[in-house]
Amino acid sequence: MSKGNLFVITGPSGAGKGTVLKRVFAAVGNIFYSISATTRSPRPGEEHGREYYFVSKAEFETMIAEKQLLEYAKYSENYYGTPLQPIIEKTRLGNDVVLEIELQGALQVRKSCPEANFIFIAPPSMEELERRLRSRGTEDEKHILMRLEKAKEECAASSNFDHIVVNDDLDKAVDELSQIILSYRK
Ligand code: ADP
Ligand code: 5GP
Repeated sequence: MSKGNLFVITGPSGAGKGTVLKRVFAAVGNIFYSISATTRSPRPGEEHGREYYFVSKAEFETMIAEKQLLEYAKYSENYYGTPLQPIIEKTRLGNDVVLEIELQGALQVRKSCPEANFIFIAPPSMEELERRLRSRGTEDEKHILMRLEKAKEECAASSNFDHIVVNDDLDKAVDELSQIILSYRK
């Protein structure tokens, strides 16, 4: 059996990664979403073990010390990291795996897994990004500003990715990303 592919999806907060991926997962079978660990608090409606493993800082630091993470980064005052074991298991079984992670983590994966495929989800403009982030209503003003500041850095690095999908029209972005994922299947 051939090994599954690893896809790393990166893009500024509010670009629509979660929205696009939800629809891509409904359209493309045999693909798993890597559930990250984070020290940030759950948003209303988020569940431990579904969107994230919500852990304490001490628990996260144990995961780092025990080398349980493929990569991790500090983002907007919290830790985020990718548990390694599920990725090994899923790809070994021939399933594709998607990591939805920020830029520093993507750069670490590029070093440790150069065979992975790197896809950047970009907003149509910084104005629209800010509008989406504000209309989502999940962060306070301080954290919105931190995320917008990070977004500039992330968009400036987008040319280093294998593919860029601009999430302007949602249907089009879902179709583009689905086609990219399917194009790597043998
Ligand atoms: P991310 O996961 O990148 O942080 P989300 O998926 O949470 O972003 O999307 C941020 C906000 O933008 C949400 O309120 C979502 O409904 C909205 N959104 C996502 N894609 C589009 C789109 N193509 N057009 C308009 N609004 C969008
Ligand atoms: P949010 O708090 O909006 O869910 O996520 C904030 C940022 O952290 C997003 O850019 C998201 O892609 C990123 N992120 C989520 N999980 C991980 C992870 O495991 N590792 C890294 N490096 N970034 C992550």
